[in-house]
Amino acid sequence: MTYFDDLSPYSYISEEGNSLNIGWLDKNHDFQKGDTSEEFIERLAWLTIYSTVKHTPGIHRCTLCQPGAFGFHLISHEGNSFILGSAEIRVKGNRAAYAAPDLLIHYVLGHRYLPPEDFISGVMVTGSRLHRDKWSLSTGPYWNTLNRQS
Ligand SMILES: [Zn+2]
Repeated sequence: MTYFDDLSPYSYISEEGNSLNIGWLDKNHDFQKGDTSEEFIERLAWLTIYSTVKHTPGIHRCTLCQPGAFGFHLISHEGNSFILGSAEIRVKGNRAAYAAPDLLIHYVLGHRYLPPEDFISGVMVTGSRLHRDKWSLSTGPYWNTLNRQS
Protein backbone atom coordinates (compact mmCIF):
# COMPACT_ATOMS: atom_id res chain seq x y z
CA MET A 1 0.00 0.00 0.00
CA THR A 2 1.37 3.37 -0.88
CA TYR A 3 -0.54 6.12 0.81
CA PHE A 4 1.17 9.35 1.87
CA ASP A 5 -0.31 12.56 3.21
CA ASP A 6 -0.15 15.52 0.86
CA LEU A 7 2.94 17.65 1.60
CA SER A 8 4.67 15.00 3.70
CA PRO A 9 8.39 14.48 2.86
CA TYR A 10 8.93 12.04 0.00
CA SER A 11 10.77 8.87 1.04
CA TYR A 12 9.18 6.06 -0.99
CA ILE A 13 12.15 5.35 -3.25
CA SER A 14 15.35 6.98 -2.05
CA GLU A 15 16.61 9.99 -3.97
CA GLU A 16 18.55 13.22 -3.59
CA GLY A 17 16.70 16.33 -2.52
CA ASN A 18 13.61 16.91 -0.43
CA SER A 19 10.51 16.46 -2.51
CA LEU A 20 7.10 16.61 -0.90
CA ASN A 21 4.46 13.98 -1.59
CA ILE A 22 1.28 14.92 -3.33
CA GLY A 23 -1.49 12.78 -4.79
CA TRP A 24 -0.73 9.45 -3.13
CA LEU A 25 -4.39 8.68 -2.57
CA ASP A 26 -6.20 5.65 -1.30
CA LYS A 27 -9.72 4.77 -0.39
CA ASN A 28 -9.16 5.04 3.38
CA HIS A 29 -8.13 8.70 3.41
CA ASP A 30 -10.06 11.83 2.47
CA PHE A 31 -8.55 14.17 -0.06
CA GLN A 32 -9.20 17.65 -1.36
CA LYS A 33 -11.58 17.83 -4.33
CA GLY A 34 -12.25 20.55 -6.86
CA ASP A 35 -12.02 21.65 -10.47
CA THR A 36 -8.76 22.14 -12.33
CA SER A 37 -8.17 23.99 -15.60
CA GLU A 38 -7.94 22.44 -19.06
CA GLU A 39 -4.39 23.71 -19.39
CA PHE A 40 -3.40 22.01 -16.13
CA ILE A 41 -4.86 18.71 -17.37
CA GLU A 42 -3.10 19.01 -20.73
CA ARG A 43 0.23 19.77 -19.11
CA LEU A 44 -0.23 16.92 -16.64
CA ALA A 45 -0.86 14.59 -19.61
CA TRP A 46 2.42 15.72 -21.16
CA LEU A 47 4.26 15.03 -17.90
CA THR A 48 2.61 11.62 -17.58
CA ILE A 49 3.63 10.57 -21.09
CA TYR A 50 7.01 12.24 -21.52
CA SER A 51 8.50 12.88 -18.11
CA THR A 52 8.10 9.99 -15.70
CA VAL A 53 10.75 8.77 -13.24
CA LYS A 54 11.17 5.85 -10.83
CA HIS A 55 9.74 3.14 -13.02
CA THR A 56 9.02 0.08 -10.88
CA PRO A 57 8.11 -3.46 -11.90
CA GLY A 58 5.08 -3.51 -9.60
CA ILE A 59 1.88 -1.81 -10.68
CA HIS A 60 -0.13 0.15 -8.17
CA ARG A 61 -3.83 0.18 -8.91
CA CYS A 62 -6.27 2.89 -7.92
CA THR A 63 -7.99 1.74 -4.72
CA LEU A 64 -10.73 4.32 -5.16
CA CYS A 65 -12.30 2.50 -8.10
CA GLN A 66 -10.47 -0.84 -8.58
CA PRO A 67 -11.15 -1.33 -12.28
CA GLY A 68 -11.88 -5.07 -12.58
CA ALA A 69 -9.73 -8.17 -12.14
CA PHE A 70 -7.40 -7.48 -15.07
CA GLY A 71 -8.13 -3.80 -15.18
CA PHE A 72 -5.46 -1.17 -15.01
CA HIS A 73 -5.54 2.50 -15.82
CA LEU A 74 -3.97 3.31 -19.15
CA ILE A 75 -3.09 6.47 -20.97
CA SER A 76 -3.10 6.25 -24.75
CA HIS A 77 -1.21 8.54 -27.07
CA GLU A 78 -0.59 8.24 -30.82
CA GLY A 79 -1.69 4.61 -30.93
CA ASN A 80 0.36 3.51 -27.90
CA SER A 81 -1.02 2.69 -24.47
CA PHE A 82 1.00 3.13 -21.33
CA ILE A 83 0.05 1.62 -18.01
CA LEU A 84 -0.31 3.94 -15.05
CA GLY A 85 0.70 2.96 -11.53
CA SER A 86 4.36 2.07 -11.92
CA ALA A 87 6.11 5.41 -12.28
CA GLU A 88 6.19 8.88 -10.76
CA ILE A 89 6.40 12.48 -11.88
CA ARG A 90 8.36 15.41 -10.45
CA VAL A 91 7.26 19.03 -10.47
CA LYS A 92 8.97 22.13 -9.08
CA GLY A 93 6.69 24.64 -7.46
CA ASN A 94 7.66 28.02 -6.02
CA ARG A 95 7.84 26.71 -2.46
CA ALA A 96 8.95 23.09 -2.94
CA ALA A 97 9.56 20.22 -5.33
CA TYR A 98 6.85 17.58 -5.51
CA ALA A 99 6.78 13.84 -6.04
CA ALA A 100 3.54 12.35 -7.34
CA PRO A 101 2.44 8.97 -8.70
CA ASP A 102 1.69 8.86 -12.42
CA LEU A 103 -1.86 7.82 -11.48
CA LEU A 104 -2.34 11.48 -10.56
CA ILE A 105 -3.98 12.29 -13.88
CA HIS A 106 -6.56 9.58 -13.21
CA TYR A 107 -7.12 10.88 -9.68
CA VAL A 108 -7.74 14.37 -11.03
CA LEU A 109 -10.01 13.34 -13.91
CA GLY A 110 -11.67 10.30 -12.37
CA HIS A 111 -12.00 11.35 -8.73
CA ARG A 112 -11.79 15.18 -8.86
CA TYR A 113 -8.65 15.24 -6.74
CA LEU A 114 -7.45 18.83 -6.32
CA PRO A 115 -3.67 19.03 -5.77
CA PRO A 116 -2.12 21.81 -3.65
CA GLU A 117 -1.98 25.20 -5.38
CA ASP A 118 1.81 25.37 -5.50
CA PHE A 119 1.93 22.03 -7.33
CA ILE A 120 -0.60 23.30 -9.87
CA SER A 121 1.49 26.46 -10.39
CA GLY A 122 4.54 24.29 -11.02
CA VAL A 123 2.75 22.15 -13.59
CA MET A 124 1.64 25.31 -15.41
CA VAL A 125 5.27 26.20 -16.18
CA THR A 126 6.55 22.68 -16.89
CA GLY A 127 6.76 20.87 -20.23
CA SER A 128 4.07 21.64 -22.73
CA ARG A 129 0.38 21.10 -23.38
CA LEU A 130 -0.83 17.90 -24.95
CA HIS A 131 -4.24 18.68 -26.44
CA ARG A 132 -7.10 16.52 -25.22
CA ASP A 133 -7.66 15.21 -28.77
CA LYS A 134 -4.22 13.59 -28.69
CA TRP A 135 -4.56 11.32 -25.68
CA SER A 136 -7.13 9.47 -23.61
CA LEU A 137 -7.46 7.56 -20.37
CA SER A 138 -9.05 4.14 -20.25
CA THR A 139 -8.97 0.94 -18.26
CA GLY A 140 -7.79 -2.36 -19.62
CA PRO A 141 -5.39 -5.28 -19.24
CA TYR A 142 -1.67 -4.68 -18.92
CA TRP A 143 -0.67 -6.61 -22.01
CA ASN A 144 -0.23 -4.63 -25.22
CA THR A 145 1.15 -1.74 -23.24
CA LEU A 146 4.58 -0.21 -23.68
CA ASN A 147 7.18 1.32 -21.42
CA ARG A 148 7.50 5.05 -21.56
CA GLN A 149 10.69 7.00 -21.96
CA SER A 150 12.06 8.29 -18.70
ZN1 LIG B 1 -9.75 5.39 -9.62
